[in-house]
Amino acid sequence: MQRTFSILKPDTVRKGQTGAVLAMMEAAGFRIAAIKKLSISKQQAAGFYAVHAQRSFFDSLTTFMSSGPIFVMVLEKENAIADLRKLMGATNPANAEEGTIRKKFAGSIEENAVHGSDAEETAAFEIGYFFAGYELA
Ligand code: ATP
Ligand code: MG
Repeated sequence: MQRTFSILKPDTVRKGQTGAVLAMMEAAGFRIAAIKKLSISKQQAAGFYAVHAQRSFFDSLTTFMSSGPIFVMVLEKENAIADLRKLMGATNPANAEEGTIRKKFAGSIEENAVHGSDAEETAAFEIGYFFAGYELA
């Protein structure tokens, strides 16, 4: 079993697509180990996406991620990290394959519905950023 971290971004929650995206995750074999709804500040979004601090889209991205409620979650499955990335589809929905979450629900390269960790180390950092140990016991 492997754990990964995911966010339903503000566009998904705003459009009422939370349940539909969670259903796709469960249908693909992911178990929701922990989930919570919250709103984050621009500063908290900047801490989460710190690896992108030098990118041109960083200011816009952190404004977007702090623009409304999100769901943060820990998902469990064999090969969860790679399998979630596959289920999400390409960052830009224009390049996302049929059957992926972003193909179905993302509106743009920025408002792209969902986040998923891209490696074991980032999954560990991201889970720890939003969840305390007792929430995953
Ligand atoms: P995420 O990290 O959210 O799972 P990703 O790994 O597919 O997405 P990254 O390159 O890590 O893509 O970019 C992080 C997020 O920044 C993207 O999901 C998207 O919301 C935003 N983003 C990426 N590239 C651009 C861009 N060129 N213009 C605007 N926003 C962008
Ligand atoms: Mg990424």
